[in-house]
Amino acid sequence: MSTLPPCPKCHSEFTYEDGAMLVCPECAHEWSATGAAEGADEAKVIKDAVGNVLQDGDTVSVIKDLKVKGSSLVVKVGTKVKNIRLVDGDHDIDCKIDGIGAMKLKSEFVKKV
Ligand SMILES: [Zn+2]
Repeated sequence: MSTLPPCPKCHSEFTYEDGAMLVCPECAHEWSATGAAEGADEAKVIKDAVGNVLQDGDTVSVIKDLKVKGSSLVVKVGTKVKNIRLVDGDHDIDCKIDGIGAMKLKSEFVKKV
């Protein structure tokens, strides 16, 4: 049986090797097999306030009032944030909030919905 990892994009199990790359026949995504094996480009696991693993596209809700840097706006506790994008850095969630716009959040202040 194949021990190739599933496609990180569509989770298809029908991935195959093409040289140093892994290829998904279902969504045509290609990625480096060696990078993953060596852990050089290991994806950082980002967790919410209660330990759920967050992924791009998740919907989260804010668990405490958060001031928006450089403005008087506040993201209220309970605000739902759709379609988050995980990024590197101190604020590890990139998102767009209705009525506020694009901003960054800390994963420790959100909970997966
Ligand atoms: Zn795929």
